[in-house]
Amino acid sequence: MEPLSRAFLESLDAADPLAPLRGQFDLGDTLYFNGNSLGPPPRATSEKLRDVVENQWRVGLIRGWNVHDWFHLPERVGDGIARLIGAKPGEVVAGDSTSVSLFKLIAAALHASDRTQVITDEANFPTDLYVLSGLQALFGKRIEVQSLPADRIAGAISGRTALATLTHVDYKTSRMHDMHALTAAARGKGALMLWDLSHSVGAVPLALNGCQVDLAVGCTYKFLNGGPGAPSFSFVARRHQQTILPLLRGWMGHAAPFMLSPDYEPAAGARRYVPGTPEVLALSAVEASLALFEQAGMDAIREKSLRMGGVFMELIESECADFGLDIATPREPEQRGSHVALRHPEAYAVMQALIARDIVGDFRAPDLMRFALTPLYQRYVDLRDVAEALRDILATGAWDTPEFRRKATVT
Ligand SMILES: *Cc1c(COP(=O)(O)O)cnc(C)c1O
Repeated sequence: MEPLSRAFLESLDAADPLAPLRGQFDLGDTLYFNGNSLGPPPRATSEKLRDVVENQWRVGLIRGWNVHDWFHLPERVGDGIARLIGAKPGEVVAGDSTSVSLFKLIAAALHASDRTQVITDEANFPTDLYVLSGLQALFGKRIEVQSLPADRIAGAISGRTALATLTHVDYKTSRMHDMHALTAAARGKGALMLWDLSHSVGAVPLALNGCQVDLAVGCTYKFLNGGPGAPSFSFVARRHQQTILPLLRGWMGHAAPFMLSPDYEPAAGARRYVPGTPEVLALSAVEASLALFEQAGMDAIREKSLRMGGVFMELIESECADFGLDIATPREPEQRGSHVALRHPEAYAVMQALIARDIVGDFRAPDLMRFALTPLYQRYVDLRDVAEALRDILATGAWDTPEFRRKATVT
C-alpha cells in the first residue's frame, strides 16, 4: 500500500488503540481541527453538567458545597491536571482565566524576589505580554521586562533575572521549547522559570517536576475540552509554596474561610492560590473531560499526534505542492506540539472555504491556517480528506469570494 493512500490510512485507523475513544464525542460529519482553540464536548460532559444543575444544584442548593464537595473542586481538578503534567498532588489548582493566573503567579514571584529582571519571548502569546506590561506599570522601576527572540533567551538569563516566563508550545507555529534545557538554564542562574502550558496540556506529555519547573499556568478549554471559557490552572512547585505567597488574597484561599477572620492566613498547599469562589459548573465540566485523558494516557496521545502530524505534512506536500503553501511547523518531532500551521497569503479566506465544507480549523493573523491534531476523536483518514479539500479550494479559487473574505469578530 502507498504510505499516504486512503487504504493505508484506513489501516492505521483500524489498528489505532485510541480509535474507540472517538465514540465519546459526537461530532457528526464535521472534521474538527480546532481543538487547540476550543475542544469539543465529550458526551460525559453533557451528562455531568445535567447532573450538576439538576441534582447537585437544584436539589442540593447551598448544601452542595459540602454534600458534593464543591468547595474542593479547585484542588480536585488541579490534582487531575497534575497527573497529566508530571506534578504532585497539592501543587496545582484550577480556577480563573489564564491571564489572571499569570498575573497572580508572576506578581507573587516578583514580590518574593530581590531581583529585577523578567525575561520573556517577544513572540509570546499576546495576553502573556500584556500581563507583563501591567505588572511593569504596577512594580515600576522595581522590575524591568526584556522581550527577546526565542534563540537569545537562554543566554540572556543572568544573576539579575528574577523570572523567565515562556509559552511552551507556540500558538502560531507549534514550535516547542526545550523545557528541560531552558528550566535548567534558569536554575543555573538562580532564576525562577514559569511555563505557560496552554498549548501543551492534553497535547504533549509533560514532566514539570522532572524538569524542576518552578511555576506554570495553562488553559483547559483548548486540548482539554473543558468548554468555552473553562478555567485555567496554576502550578507552584511544593518547594516554593511557603515563600511565593499570593498577593491576590481572597477568602477562598484562607486557611479557615468560614471563621471569617479579619486576618489573612493562607491555606495549605496550592489552595492558597485560589482567590475567590470556585467556578463550580465550569470546573465540573473540566473534571468530566479529564477522565478521558487518564484513560487514553498522554504517551499514546503523543504517539498518535506525532504520526498524524507527519502524515499531514507529507500529504500537504504531495497534494498541495503547487499552491504556494508553506509549512510553518517544525518537522522534528521533539520540536513541535500538536498542531500544524500552514502559511498562505489568503489564509483567512481559504480557511473560511474549508469551514464551509465542514472542515474546521482556524486562522491566525496575518497569514496562518492552523490544524490541531487531537488523537481522541480524529482519524488518520481525516487528514487525507482535509488535504484533498484544501487542494480543491486552492486549485479552483473557491476561496475567492466576498463572503469568505469578510472577517468575523473571533477568528
Ligand atoms: C489560549 C492562551 C491563553 C488564554 O488566556 P485566557 O486568559 O484563559 O483567555 C493564555 N496563554 C496562552 C499561551 C494561550 O495560548
